[in-house]
Amino acid sequence: MKLYKSFLIVLSTLLIMNCNSNNDEQLMEKAKELSQKFIITDGHIDTPWRMHKWGYEDISKRSPGDFDYVRAKEGGLDVPFMAIYVPATYQVTGGAKEKAEELIAIVERIVSDHPDKFEIAHSPEEAERIVSEGKIALPMGMENGAPLEGDLSNVQYFHDKGISYITLTHSEDNAICDSSYNLGKRTHNGLSAYGREVVKEMNRVGIMVDISHVSDDAFYQVMDVTQVPAIASHSSCRHFTPDWERNMDDDMIKRLAENGGVVQINFASYFVDQASKDTKAPIDADVAKYIKDNNLDPTDYASYDEYRREQYDKRFLYVSSEKVADHIDHVVNLVGIDHVGFGSDFDGVGYTLPTDLKGPEGFPMVIFHLLKRGYTEEEIEKICYKNVWRVWKATEEFAKLN
Ligand SMILES: [Zn+2]
Repeated sequence: MKLYKSFLIVLSTLLIMNCNSNNDEQLMEKAKELSQKFIITDGHIDTPWRMHKWGYEDISKRSPGDFDYVRAKEGGLDVPFMAIYVPATYQVTGGAKEKAEELIAIVERIVSDHPDKFEIAHSPEEAERIVSEGKIALPMGMENGAPLEGDLSNVQYFHDKGISYITLTHSEDNAICDSSYNLGKRTHNGLSAYGREVVKEMNRVGIMVDISHVSDDAFYQVMDVTQVPAIASHSSCRHFTPDWERNMDDDMIKRLAENGGVVQINFASYFVDQASKDTKAPIDADVAKYIKDNNLDPTDYASYDEYRREQYDKRFLYVSSEKVADHIDHVVNLVGIDHVGFGSDFDGVGYTLPTDLKGPEGFPMVIFHLLKRGYTEEEIEKICYKNVWRVWKATEEFAKLN
């Protein structure tokens, strides 16, 4: 009798397991379908810098970076914002504006080399038209306001060059505001007087204000100044990485939402998980030591890349895409469905992307988790693009009226 009972228990467990995996398969199919059906926009992809660093590549084919046309189509990514990243060093040496223009030229070259596959989008309307023609729209966001070089007229200049958002600063305090990474320096205790003018000018001209990378004080001061909703193009929730200022804490997410803004979740393992983040610093320290011991040039990435990759393979804690869904859940639980999106940071976070989210081909995985957690199609569509486009459209509308 006892044996018969345990046989029944085993049998029913097997049935439930089978049922779950069938259900998972169906949800995965649904996720793939939705990723193709909905426009997917991504707030931050560093492919221009990758090419600047490693050399120009044909990304119309599968390529060694995180992002290319084939994998974007596979995962349903339609509107990735190309980051025009200018490192903080150019604030010291000069040449920030020129560097931004070099990066913009790389995006222009991608488009002129493959006009049937890519086109630069200057507005949500243009992006929609480009996507309807079966191409990938490439809007541009400038990461670091340093290329404005202290001249407000450069806001209009870069708008006309195709820039749709500006991340106010990067790894160091600049003339506009303080950086979250630049611990202790706090040049302006937030936003400078010039920075306030920059934000107003961005509102007037129609460039989205991106608060990723800024210090907490700068964030709150930007919220007080901007007359249109803002974005965080690639930040995650500090709730999961306590005390790390680069991610947004709950009060900031609430303030951003009150203002109508959107946080676009960064996918990197160390952005979404503290245990993963803990494994990063010792590896980076050893890479720095390796560079020093071998008299290598830190800007000559290729010379130490093999060592770096090996160390990451061996020692870094990689999470899965489920963690990204945890961050989306966290924002939704805090402020509702209208204030969250994707900001992968592909090509910008080295060897740290989650195991099943190494490039845009992974978007269906994230959607799978959302379906599994009971998100409706309408809610998923908002996360995929509608939330961010609402901010993009509001920015345009405000500029038209001013
Ligand atoms: Zn960044």
